[in-house]
Amino acid sequence: MTGEITVQPPLRSICVYCGSSKGNRPDYLEGAQSLGRLLAESRIRLVYGGGSIGLMGSMAGACLDAGGQVTGIIPHFLDRLEVGMEGLTEIEKTESMHERKQRMAELSDGFVVMPGGLGTLDETFEILTWRQLQLHDKPIVLLNIAGYWDLFVHLLEHQVNEGFVKPAHLDLFQVVDTPEQVIPALARQPADRGDIRSKWT
Ligand code: AMP
Repeated sequence: MTGEITVQPPLRSICVYCGSSKGNRPDYLEGAQSLGRLLAESRIRLVYGGGSIGLMGSMAGACLDAGGQVTGIIPHFLDRLEVGMEGLTEIEKTESMHERKQRMAELSDGFVVMPGGLGTLDETFEILTWRQLQLHDKPIVLLNIAGYWDLFVHLLEHQVNEGFVKPAHLDLFQVVDTPEQVIPALARQPADRGDIRSKWT
């Protein structure tokens, strides 16, 4: 089956996980803004954490400025800390972080991971493990700006080599280098994705 692809149903809403900081390289900020604009131009709604700071805020602002639709999902307690973004198309306030992540996942047809910190890692591992458990079958793409996720991929390869992660589970996500590659990657799925469970043995 290697090399075959199936096409996903239309991508209406995409969830992007990304840092509440801007990082130390201009590439991160430029990448976040490009992705926001590309989603707007593709008429794909952006679903994200609702904050106005860091890469999150810059991406949402660029998407809105380009005429895009943006849904922010933020817990009440973080609304003030992360300075909830003004002018979003839609904002949902949740009681907890768990409810926030659940709603972000429910509302989205796929997931993109931008550079980010501990919160981004938490969100990434959760959506990967939910797919590993077949709780969803939505595409997950890591946007590897400036090689930011190389060490993450090496960690997972180390886990495979040491016998704690099945080799097939490296197919749970794709890695791309530029914002322009994100939407085409989301539109592709490995043809054998339904066989993930059979590869557990
Ligand atoms: P960070 O990657 O740490 O800059 O955070 C990015 C996003 O993840 C922000 O919207 C944070 O609210 C969220 N976040 C931070 N810490 C956590 C956590 N422990 N669990 C889930 N999300 C988090």
